[in-house]
Amino acid sequence: MLETQDLGFVYDDGTVALEGITLAIEEGEKVALVGPNGAGKSTLLHLVAGFRMPFTGRVTVSGVDLVKSNADAVRRNIGLVFQDPDDQIFMPTVEEDVAFGPRNIGSDNVDGRVTHALRCAGIEHLAKRRPHRLSYGMKKRVAIAGTLAMDPKMLLMDEPTSGLDPRARSELIKLLRDMDKTMLIATHDLEAAAEIVGRAIVINVSPIMEGSMRDIVLARGILDKAGLEVPPVSRLFGILDSMGYQIGDMPVSMNQAVEELTKVIESGGRRVHTHVHEHGHARGDRSPKRGHIRAPVKDLSEDE
Ligand code: ADP
Repeated sequence: MLETQDLGFVYDDGTVALEGITLAIEEGEKVALVGPNGAGKSTLLHLVAGFRMPFTGRVTVSGVDLVKSNADAVRRNIGLVFQDPDDQIFMPTVEEDVAFGPRNIGSDNVDGRVTHALRCAGIEHLAKRRPHRLSYGMKKRVAIAGTLAMDPKMLLMDEPTSGLDPRARSELIKLLRDMDKTMLIATHDLEAAAEIVGRAIVINVSPIMEGSMRDIVLARGILDKAGLEVPPVSRLFGILDSMGYQIGDMPVSMNQAVEELTKVIESGGRRVHTHVHEHGHARGDRSPKRGHIRAPVKDLSEDE
């Protein structure tokens, strides 16, 4: 569906934004493009969407090489959702905004496309609202709907979770995880990436590693090299692992951690002991022992 070969880009002021990026994304795949600020993620999305032409290398979309003369046509297969929805939303109502793109290129059945796009973005109820009065999270959804209304084969998303409060963030993560669309998501939010995608590509100007988020977090030195922090939940489980607790698969997000703990509890594993601390420590020594993960949550435990 999308390939890049040895992609490089240098801005006019001499800033080298990308070098040697070769990647491939299959139809139906969701892939994260992971790297710190300044890693070149937005630049890469702009190259792939045909907004800028590469300095070196090439971009191929559905088997067609992207060049200046076909950039408009190729771009129709690729929908870019900007990081800041205010850069993308400008019509007086949500439905007019979502209709703008398809109307502009003379698409048929604009109303049907708009209804479908609003439904996919979970904002049908906001159709008549003024987009600029909506919360930031809902504006992001309007921008996503506006892109979906163009019926692209693939969505490119630039930092979809940035600027969202925790609830809006987790709702957007769920929306993207459940959406049936090929996606390339640029983000430095490793936990969000772990929830949404099966595979991630780590870059910091040049390529660093490719694999599942779990593999990336576990690969020694990779996050450091990429200028990224190990997610707190992975750090915690890493400590437990080094203390000898058997934790199964390393979680990268809180949901994965809960899943992992639930699995161990449900398998009847006596390794995990979740425990209420409401009653204090009056019953003697409760210091953690090898093989017990103690969590200050409700008493779900079956004591040994
Ligand atoms: P990311 O999206 O990973 O934060 P960017 O693609 O925005 O990274 O930026 C990559 C590099 O290119 C950074 O060093 C950034 O400062 C630089 N850069 C981005 N846009 C421009 C521009 N218009 N002119 C010059 N340098 C730029």
